[in-house]
Amino acid sequence: MVKIEKDFANLIERNGRFLRTNEDFKVLSRGQHPEYVVVGCSDSRTAPTIVADSKLGDIFEIRLAGGVIDDAALASIEYAVAHLEAKKILIMAHTKCGAVTEAQKMLAAGSAESADEDNALGRLVRSIYDNISSNQENATDLTNAILDNARAQKTALMQSSIIKKAAEEGMVEVAIGLYDIDTGKLNILEIA
Ligand SMILES: [Zn+2]
Repeated sequence: MVKIEKDFANLIERNGRFLRTNEDFKVLSRGQHPEYVVVGCSDSRTAPTIVADSKLGDIFEIRLAGGVIDDAALASIEYAVAHLEAKKILIMAHTKCGAVTEAQKMLAAGSAESADEDNALGRLVRSIYDNISSNQENATDLTNAILDNARAQKTALMQSSIIKKAAEEGMVEVAIGLYDIDTGKLNILEIA
């Protein structure tokens, strides 16, 4: 236990700093009403709350490698819309995405045969390959491949009857955005 505390001491120290400088958590202890749901990548350079200069409680974040929406991610989004009344869903792709880059390599090689589907990461990359492989230009244009993957996530999102109904009733807006790792700029590209 002492060793573990030592290894994580840096995080504990940063939490102490957070407690001294931030009081938002006190208000939020009564409940959360995030306006935005951001579905993004786990890439540590793309934290939505930080890049959108937002506060604790502003953004309901769902982050997975490649921004791929699986069943648990979809359930999380449904929860935010149905129970927290979040009004805007941003599928936030980002430049230089490692997961899409791996899928792109398969496309450039001409087949998904190299996918190691014995592990979850291999299966994830394979699913991204399926999202980008209908356009051969994606073999050389990484940003377009990243956006095609984001569009596939939007399609997956709209399979949810909860999200589809909320969007049709104008209760929720869905957009695709691209965060640029080099410039730090977030652009909204497509709004449903
Ligand atoms: Zn990524």
